[in-house]
Amino acid sequence: MKDFDVIIIGAGPGGIFAAYELMITKPELKVCVIEAGHELEKRQCPIDGKKIKSCIGCKSCAIMRGFGGAGAFSDGKYNITNDFGGTLYEHIGKDLAMDLMNYVDKINMSNGGEGTKLFTTKGSKFKKICIENKLNLLEASVRHLGTDKNFKVLTNLYIQMKDKITFVFDTFVDDIVANSDGTYDVVTANETYSCRRCVVSVGRSGSSWIESICKKLDIKTLSNRVDIGVRVELPAVVFSHLTSELYESKIVYRTEKFEDKVRTFCMNPYGYVVNENTNGIVTVNGHSFDAPELQSENTNFALLVAKHFSEPFKDSNGYGESIARLSNMLGGGTIVQRFGDLMRGRRTNESRLNESTVRPTLNATPGDLSLVLPKRILDGIIEMIYALDKIAPGTANDDTLLYGVEVKFYNMEVAINDRLETSHKGLFMIGDGSGVTHSLSHASASGVYVARLISEEI
Ligand SMILES: Cc1cc2nc3c(=O)[nH]c(=O)nc-3n(C[C@H](O)[C@H](O)[C@H](O)COP(=O)(O)OP(=O)(O)OC[C@H]3O[C@@H](n4cnc5c(N)ncnc54)[C@H](O)[C@@H]3O)c2cc1C
Repeated sequence: MKDFDVIIIGAGPGGIFAAYELMITKPELKVCVIEAGHELEKRQCPIDGKKIKSCIGCKSCAIMRGFGGAGAFSDGKYNITNDFGGTLYEHIGKDLAMDLMNYVDKINMSNGGEGTKLFTTKGSKFKKICIENKLNLLEASVRHLGTDKNFKVLTNLYIQMKDKITFVFDTFVDDIVANSDGTYDVVTANETYSCRRCVVSVGRSGSSWIESICKKLDIKTLSNRVDIGVRVELPAVVFSHLTSELYESKIVYRTEKFEDKVRTFCMNPYGYVVNENTNGIVTVNGHSFDAPELQSENTNFALLVAKHFSEPFKDSNGYGESIARLSNMLGGGTIVQRFGDLMRGRRTNESRLNESTVRPTLNATPGDLSLVLPKRILDGIIEMIYALDKIAPGTANDDTLLYGVEVKFYNMEVAINDRLETSHKGLFMIGDGSGVTHSLSHASASGVYVARLISEEI
């Protein structure tokens, strides 16, 4: 059995920043990171748009798994805020959460992110303009690394850690055994590893695994929400006054009809709409590059409505998955529809799409989103598009493209204390896998937080 002081399961932002901080604060510790996916340079999705056009269900999805986690090919937007991206502050306090997110930003800046812009909503004139139009612009600073620089930062962090920390790639952790002497056995197909402190950072892709571990170790979990909606794509010029000052504007609208909240999410100026495959279900997402020569002429963002379930139905993610499956069934993947066609109650077909002035950045099936999305959600999205049209005229144009469906799945929230520790001493659960964070910045900050606690203790 291989013995370590600390074992980290998962090499996403949570696991990486936990490992990095341990290396800085206690270099003498024996730390091991076990990751189900590949090391960074071997992460390559086989879809090339020519020979392989759609997901072939690789054993380990290169987009979601491997060094860098789900964030490796993301837009690299680090939102420094307690207003969204997770509820880490409920455990560690708002000030410390902000300090840690700023600390992560500093590390990113000194490892390849230098020169990228930090945007902020503080003091923005758009706050007032939004309020005047029944829209609420949330407070945040956002560092946009871009997919290209995000990759560079991850490469640099790995280079610094690889000779000081034991990395085990392409290895799925099957089980965690809590021994009576306070140690943990971390069990994989080929080897069992042992440690006194185990940090579980398995992200969204580890959601069903973490649920089974919690059940086995008698750790309580709570049902979480699911966000359902569409990705909007329009000419970048429509939102350029907002994106050039704020980069990403997180805007919330309360609908007149149902008083539901609809929010913008993950705004990608001059970006691309992409498919996302979570356990075989194809949904939609977006990203953009920092380098101008790699940018598109469009901006995309999601419009999402949150759904919570409690009794007797608790499976929020199952509900989201069913809606995504419906769109996959009708469209063979993602569906795209012109806003004008949606409002006229007709599907978009190839010829209407070809005539559209907005050129789609994703090859999706033209169709009818009203056959997929529940009426209440669709009504909310339509109301918000008209509300956004007041601050960004052109949003409600007939040719604005809506891709569906976009679903944000959240893990079950794991019962952890203010140390992000479970009822088992020395067993920590951090990042998106814990259900507490849903973003790069919060997940990374949770890793730094736990690493510091461990360093102080040992
Ligand atoms: C396309 C895309 C774009 C995104 N863009 C942004 C963005 O711009 N800004 C933002 O804030 N967020 C973004 N996100 C979300 C962000 O990537 C996540 O919030 C973040 O990666 C969570 O970090 P994490 O470390 O908790 O988990 P993850 O990044 O999911 O990493 C978990 C790792 O654990 C591994 N793992 C899981 N189970 C096991 C097991 N049993 N054994 C071993 N290893 C295991 C996985 O392989 C994975 O590599 C995006 C996500 C996607 C998919």
